Amino acid sequence: MSEKEKSAGELLKEKLVYKKKTAFEKCPDDKDAAYAYCEDYKKFLDNGKTERDATAYSIGLAKAHGFREYKLGMKVKAGDKFYYDNRGKSLYLFIIGSEDIENGIAITAAHIDSPRLDIKANPVYEAGGMAFIKTHYYGGIKKYQWTAIPLALHGMVTLSDGKTVDVIIGENDDDPLFYVNDILPHLAKDQYQKHVGDAIEGEQLNLLSGSVPFDNETSEAIKLNLLKLFNDKYGMTEYDFQAAELSAVPAYKARDIGLDRSLIAAYGHDDKVCAYPEITAILSLEHPKKTVMSILADKEETGSNGNTGMKTSAFCDIIADISASLGKNERIVRSNSVCLSADVAAAYDPNFAGAYEINNSALINSGIALCKYTGARGKSDTNDASGEYVGKIRKIFDDNNVVWQSCELGKVDQGGGGTVAKYISEKNIDTVDVGVPVISMHAPYEVVSKLDVYNMHKAVVAFYTAE
Ligand code: MN
Ligand code: MN
Repeated sequence: MSEKEKSAGELLKEKLVYKKKTAFEKCPDDKDAAYAYCEDYKKFLDNGKTERDATAYSIGLAKAHGFREYKLGMKVKAGDKFYYDNRGKSLYLFIIGSEDIENGIAITAAHIDSPRLDIKANPVYEAGGMAFIKTHYYGGIKKYQWTAIPLALHGMVTLSDGKTVDVIIGENDDDPLFYVNDILPHLAKDQYQKHVGDAIEGEQLNLLSGSVPFDNETSEAIKLNLLKLFNDKYGMTEYDFQAAELSAVPAYKARDIGLDRSLIAAYGHDDKVCAYPEITAILSLEHPKKTVMSILADKEETGSNGNTGMKTSAFCDIIADISASLGKNERIVRSNSVCLSADVAAAYDPNFAGAYEINNSALINSGIALCKYTGARGKSDTNDASGEYVGKIRKIFDDNNVVWQSCELGKVDQGGGGTVAKYISEKNIDTVDVGVPVISMHAPYEVVSKLDVYNMHKAVVAFYTAE
């Protein structure tokens, strides 16, 4: 239809009415690049299931791109590329820009911890002819989803001599797995009466871990045999579980979903799906004008506490020390810094349409989701980004063909959630939440769209290189 044939109403509508476009409509040529990009993203997922795994894998990528280890107090100069390894559980990648750092740092912050089952300090027992390992779940899980699925054990143990050993069982195809039992439907009468949230209780999340006795004479011989197998493999005793950090995570590998291969199912998209684009974006930069920083935080799923969570002073200490090294005022640096708090959004799901308000929901394949505010019950506990800052970010995205959309987390008063945004903005840094929409968030196997993942990479590159 030519312009002449359009009615005045149609023309006015084009001018005034916002129409959300999918990535297919807005950037039809991105598909091949997005699919190729996500092959490496799947490797990151398979190698980065816990914060320790993700930190180690990311350091490898950073070193391969010329990043060197940074220690607080080190001298820095323009062009330097550093990684700061916070206790093997959180990582800061940064490049010193060519312009005055007092113009501010372009920061992105994602998290690399994901919901899972952590092992208790005194975990091993036997019952009913089986050995079990007790867990305390980490983060917001629907407990019933963690039964009857393949689980792997990841983490570390400190031995009595002070040495530490890394533990990983269940990721190779011929490794044994761990498993949480569920009741058969035939005998589930009592379970069916319960609220779905109580169908499996926290103390039922016990890992089935063996059934062979060490001998037929000793008491608790099945437990003893399990401890012996741990001792044979790692040199550890039961006492060493008390100085360990072990987690059961889904043993699934990242796989494509759908015949068109447009989606990826994996454990831990929340929030590796934002962490990975941060890394690829910063590794793609050679000589940025602005100083740029990618943060991979720990402990987001339990409130960002502790020295590896986003509330740690390590964040401001790094900014203070690099500012001081350049002879600049860290308070001015922070006040002019800008941040994308990079965390996943809830993708609209037509199977649960009642939980969403569709005009303000993130749609799959419609690009990354910008949440001006999060929170719950009247925006409580939110970082509410200013309209000015959202306007600035919107322009960066639009100028660089980033497919993006605005969203909230579900209907008003349906629930809610938070991110690290508020812990960064309270340091006097303009911050807004941006992330990839996820289907079945916090489930053992979550789903995202490849085009959305790729747009997250495009978004971070655009943000880091914006004037
Ligand atoms: Mn998250
Ligand atoms: Mn989460």
